[in-house]
Amino acid sequence: MTEKKWEKYILTEPPKMEPKSSPDGPKMLPLLMQNGANLDGAFHVNCMWVTPGPNPGIFEAHSHPYDEMIGFVGTNPEDPYDLGAEATLWIEDEKYVITRSFLAFFPKGVVHCPLTVSNVRRPILLFDIQLCRKRPEFIWAKDSPPARR
Ligand SMILES: [Zn+2]
Repeated sequence: MTEKKWEKYILTEPPKMEPKSSPDGPKMLPLLMQNGANLDGAFHVNCMWVTPGPNPGIFEAHSHPYDEMIGFVGTNPEDPYDLGAEATLWIEDEKYVITRSFLAFFPKGVVHCPLTVSNVRRPILLFDIQLCRKRPEFIWAKDSPPARR
């Protein structure tokens, strides 16, 4: 049987990457990831599960040379807007405490995070979209001059 023209555009296999977690934090299990590294021309989309756990998981402050959208979607079938956890998100010098499913958009160059997710009571579907053609670049705030922090 010949390969179909669009077959490679449909991804059903997990990415070849290790689960991320802080030592005491909830695990982030890679689910699906597509970008220019595994499909020419694709922008970056990464989907993960955040598993339940009592302790915070943290992303450190950073920015990207591309626009980014993240989503945290709770899995309570009775209330899909219940995040099932508490997320604390920093965008530049502003702090947000979020307990509902959310999308957050970070224009390129805007420092975002730390993002702490604590008291995860149900799995959370997390996704990250960046309009880059390969794997995303991270510019860590701790590595930037003080004026950028
Ligand atoms: Zn980011």
